[in-house]
Amino acid sequence: MSKRDYYDILGASRTASADEIKKAYRKQALKYHPDRVSDDGKKEAAEKFKEATEAYEILSDSTKRPQYDQFGHAAFQNGGFGGGGFGGMEHAEEVFREFIGGFGGGGGGIFGSIFDGVFGSSSGSGRNAPRRGSDLEMSMEISFEEAAFGVEKKIKIPRYETCPTCKGDGAKPGTKRRRCSYCAGTGQVMSQAGFLNIARTCPRCQGEGETIESPCIECRSTGRVKQEKSIKIDIPGGVDTGTRVRVYGEGEIGQRGGGRGDLYILIYVKKHTIFKRDENNVLCELPISFVQAALGDEVGVPTLYGKVDMKIPAGTQPGKIFRIRDKGISDVRGRGKGDQLVKIIIEVPTRLTAQQKKLLKEFSSSGGGATPGISSFVDKLKGVFK
Ligand SMILES: [Zn+2]
Ligand SMILES: [Zn+2]
Repeated sequence: MSKRDYYDILGASRTASADEIKKAYRKQALKYHPDRVSDDGKKEAAEKFKEATEAYEILSDSTKRPQYDQFGHAAFQNGGFGGGGFGGMEHAEEVFREFIGGFGGGGGGIFGSIFDGVFGSSSGSGRNAPRRGSDLEMSMEISFEEAAFGVEKKIKIPRYETCPTCKGDGAKPGTKRRRCSYCAGTGQVMSQAGFLNIARTCPRCQGEGETIESPCIECRSTGRVKQEKSIKIDIPGGVDTGTRVRVYGEGEIGQRGGGRGDLYILIYVKKHTIFKRDENNVLCELPISFVQAALGDEVGVPTLYGKVDMKIPAGTQPGKIFRIRDKGISDVRGRGKGDQLVKIIIEVPTRLTAQQKKLLKEFSSSGGGATPGISSFVDKLKGVFK
């Protein structure tokens, strides 16, 4: 079979920059991610993936790319500059892992599921080793109070469960898996490439080491089916928008006895009508009348823990912030508790009766309007206007 041109494989031009090559490869790698293709297409996708990875390896190498540009594939055949051939899926795996490393991935998210889909077990211990299930992530909106105190939620998640028909085996009930005769159960076959023997994934069993003669119809012999599951989860008190709550062991079921992945809940906290949050402190505004501010008063302040009486000292200024200790939110990691901060808003009456106006005028002419702030402002004005 004649080899396709590396640039054609990646869909990149011959003058593409290193960055464009990278982007082109990423596009291909995601396109042929087996989770994105139907089961029937997986085998072909794996081949395409391998092909794209080989092309990327050469074209991303500042030494190899000019050699390829000059000599084509001949540059890397026997006795050529690079020596040796491309090492099959195992090697493609290494190249791709290195590539993904540049995105800081590998731990989870889309790249994590790419690993699961394409490569199976992440170690070199063989493709038929147990494989841990993927992690799942979902977002959840909760109220301000739920975030403050924690809440138990019942949720429904679609996720892979063990196939009830074959109990995860993949073979039709009553039939058995057989050791693959083509590779003697090793999952690999050796092939000659010039002077080298190269291990390749067994084409008959796709590296499984076993073949299924009568596949389970329900799960298409994958051993897993997608189901909607109801589970209860505990959201701890103190979470805030952006907190990721890890629910251990509630991700996808693994394969071949591999454990479940984890479920991550991304929290969004709804706006509260009265309260705002600053770290673990709760903020609120408290409107009072100018008479209360001038004479002082005792007022009821709403907190997360119910109403609390607070003293307003005489002469309280607008914008003054009072602190009510320990009425904030308990830290999600148990590091203490916040306070409630109450900001005073002083409201000026907009509708006055004739009697009230008369009283206020009397108050003003008695010198009541002269506060230290106003007096010093009047002095400053004199300086401005002369
Ligand atoms: Zn099944
Ligand atoms: Zn085989």
